[in-house]
Amino acid sequence: MSTYPNAVATAAVPAPAAPLDPACAEPLPVLGRDVTVPLVTGGEVTYAALDYAASAPALQRVWDDVAAYAPYYGSVHRGAGYLSQLSTDLFEQSRATVAGFLDCRPGDQVVFTRSTTDSLNLLAAVLPADCQVFVFETEHHASLLPWTDAQVTYLNAPRTPDEAVATLERALADRELGEGPALVCVTGASNVTGELWPVKELAAAAHAHGARIVLDAAQLAPHHPVSVQELDVDWVAFSGHKLYAPFGSGVLAGRADWLQQAEPYLAGGGASRKVARRADGGVDVEWHTTAARHEAGSPNVIGVYAIASACKALTEEGFDGLVARERHLIAKVRGGLAEVPAVRILSLFGDDAPRVGVISFVVDGWNSSHFAAALSAEYGIGVRDGLFCAHPLVRTLLGSEPQTQGECGAPEAAPGERSLNAIRVSFGAGTPDEHVDRFVRAVRELVANGAKWQYRTEEGRCVPAV
Ligand code: PLP
Repeated sequence: MSTYPNAVATAAVPAPAAPLDPACAEPLPVLGRDVTVPLVTGGEVTYAALDYAASAPALQRVWDDVAAYAPYYGSVHRGAGYLSQLSTDLFEQSRATVAGFLDCRPGDQVVFTRSTTDSLNLLAAVLPADCQVFVFETEHHASLLPWTDAQVTYLNAPRTPDEAVATLERALADRELGEGPALVCVTGASNVTGELWPVKELAAAAHAHGARIVLDAAQLAPHHPVSVQELDVDWVAFSGHKLYAPFGSGVLAGRADWLQQAEPYLAGGGASRKVARRADGGVDVEWHTTAARHEAGSPNVIGVYAIASACKALTEEGFDGLVARERHLIAKVRGGLAEVPAVRILSLFGDDAPRVGVISFVVDGWNSSHFAAALSAEYGIGVRDGLFCAHPLVRTLLGSEPQTQGECGAPEAAPGERSLNAIRVSFGAGTPDEHVDRFVRAVRELVANGAKWQYRTEEGRCVPAV
């Protein structure tokens, strides 16, 4: 039996890299593509940003759009001047662009937030009284944590998409129909395994039991088209910085009723339509019922405009080509890792599950932080190591208990033992083949020859010793 019961020892014969349509052979231009970084072993290389799942580089198109708008920047919804009017128009047009990108229903609201985390906390804040919440333990902390203990039911990690649906069905069936409002929160693509979740089927199960569903599309929207209507989800949340628009904005889009009925997320200007002193000395407030109700304070017009620009750029490029190109890169990485027996890829749904370009793995006998540090210092490759803000899922996949990480000099896991953390490589629309090729070669060389440099632990992380 595998040391990692839920990790897939990838097939001995690597999957062939999918043939690539020449039309989508080129990555989209992103900022930082020519940035070079020093290697501890001497010299410089262009930086291989393979941590898109954390934050993706800005699309050049987004940067150019923001730069073109920047001189015209002005206040939104609160100025009589020309630039304020222009900025307000762009802000509201951006809302319409995002609604189109997500294929929202007529009447849905698009609320601009700071991030997916902010969006899901906003939704948690507007839940009707006595709303029950159902969340798989496999979720990112942003989906796992905004709910109170009293309202949330955590569902165990399913091992197949069908089991996910069956688990949800059972949990929802345990509550009586008409017992009160309920919400299911589910990710579209895992930030750990990259695997796609059966969102449409989960939405159907939720609705059949009188519950609503919010889709955490933080990892899905940058890789696949998301249609609110097609998936029949009630809300969608995503972050600009994972969608090639790193200017501090996020989105919560979906049904207006719970948003309109709740108290504003933040109280202040912009959310209030009318404020008047009362005879008893207090104030009466009339709040907006539009998205502005939950957007108090001066909005981040640059961030919002950047998200809209990214939505347009991806739509115009076409997801068919982007998906085909990403599949090609996924096949290269998974095929390359399959040739290294010490590598175990973490997976819930197995080798054949459809996935985005997010792959987590452990290397027998290596401390993950040490491995990631060597990838960076010796190859100029940026990946992530740790538990990826999805601690319960990664621990389930590793079969490990919460523990502090070992010193990087001493591998946290000897050959045949379990690792406590994992390494995650992730990529997307701006990733050239050379980055994933270099990554696969680096993994092969590190496993075969070990690190060339000495590393030490500093504040819990491995860093080059000198
Ligand atoms: N959901 C998923 C699936 C994620 O991967 C992340 C971030 O990694 C989040 C939510 C939170 O996103 P943000 O940090 O932008 O709030």
